[in-house]
This record gives sequence, structure tokens and C-alpha cells, in this order.
Amino acid sequence: MKQITIAIDGFSSTGKSTVAKLVAKALGYVYVDSGAMYRAITFFAMQNDMISNNHFSKDKLIAELPNAKVSFKFNDELGFAEVYLNDENIERDIRTLEVSNLVSTIAAIPEVRAQLVKIQKEIGKHKAVVMDGRDIGTVVFPDAELKIFMSASADTRAARRFKELSDRGETVSYQDVLENVQKRDHLDSTRKDSPLYKAEDAIAIDNSNLTIQEQLDFILQQVQTILKA
Ligand code: C5P
Repeated sequence: MKQITIAIDGFSSTGKSTVAKLVAKALGYVYVDSGAMYRAITFFAMQNDMISNNHFSKDKLIAELPNAKVSFKFNDELGFAEVYLNDENIERDIRTLEVSNLVSTIAAIPEVRAQLVKIQKEIGKHKAVVMDGRDIGTVVFPDAELKIFMSASADTRAARRFKELSDRGETVSYQDVLENVQKRDHLDSTRKDSPLYKAEDAIAIDNSNLTIQEQLDFILQQVQTILKA
């Protein structure tokens, strides 16, 4: 059976990972959350006092990058791979609003991107992969057979992220979450290296009013069309 590469890019909190996981599961493909890798490096920088709300030692982080080993390990119970930093499971630590507030600064650094893109390409070299992020269809896998570009209104996205954080027990305000989503979109779209934009051959989906099932069905239909071609 022919195997393909599926790239799912888009704005923050558009539900990319939820749908990407389901697509991967339906096809028996590997799912990779590339955002988790940028979050892992951000967590590394926080832990080593290289970044906070009011300071950033960029050169120190660049010098220390070889000591930040980011990897994934499949969790059978959860049904997806969790992210590890130097063999420590940091899946929970990277989902906080604090990490979200700093990650776009870290993700703008070319040395960080080069290190992570190399790993992403390696994971995807045999195809059969669904990867979500910001530059997957434009930089990581420009030859992906299927590219999806997700968007949704800022309010819809902030409401989803707010629920996710609250469900996890984090005390956050809706306004702070909305500001974070908008700020990240701006930083991610305007940075010099690998900015977020829709690849010319990507299919745009605005999922403000779509259920997860509708998105899944649509993507699987596209996959079937590609596999039959
Ligand atoms: O997908 P998620 O929201 O977890 O991504 C966190 C951040 O990581 C994004 O806001 C962006 O700054 C960065 N990122 C990136 N390129 C990717 C994936 C994520 O720059 N491929």
C-alpha cells in the first residue's frame, strides 16, 4: 500500500493536533507534534534561567543547544508519542501558559529551528507520518502529498485553549489566553526564519464551525483520493 506524508499547519489552537492524531490513528501512521519540540526547548531554556518574561540569554541558549536532546516515546495507554527532554518525560510541563508565552521567541531562533527540523525530517523520511506545526508543508516536508492549513476565529481558538488549560487545573483568565493566541500568531507569521503561511498547494480549512469528525472525514477523503490516483 502506498504511504504518504501529511502536513498540517495553521494558527495556534486551531485543533491541529486533535485532528492530526485521529488521522494518524485511522491510517496507522506516526503522529508528530512539532510544536511540542519547540515547547521542549523553551522549557529547557526556562529551567536553565536563560529566559523569563523580562530577560533572554539567546547566545547562552544557542551555545547550550547540543545539551537539549528532544525525542518522542510512544505511550501505549494514551495512543500517541510523548515528548522527552534528555530522557525525562516533559509532556505536562510544556503545556502551561508560561511556556506558551515564551515559545514563539524561542521558535524564531534559526539555530533552534535547524536542530529541530533535522529531527523532524529524520522521523518522516519513510513517509507514513502526520506532522502538525507551522512550517511543515513549507519547510520540513515541501513535497508532502497532502497539506492542510487550519484556521479558526481567534475567539473560537481562545475558548478551546482556555477550556483545555482549565480542564488541566491551570488557573488562567480567558483574556490572557486570547492575548497569547493573538500574540503567537503575530510572532509566528512575521518572523524571518520559516514564518507561518499557507503553502500554495495546501488545502485551507476554517474549522470554526466544523466538528472534529467532519474535519477527520474530510482529510481521510483527501487521503483516499491521493492513494487512488
Ligand atoms: O503547536 P503549538 O501551539 O504547540 O506550537 C507552539 C509554538 O511553537 C508555536 O506558537 C510556534 O511558535 C512554534 N512552532 C513553530 N514551528 C512549528 C511548530 C511550532 O515555530 N513547526
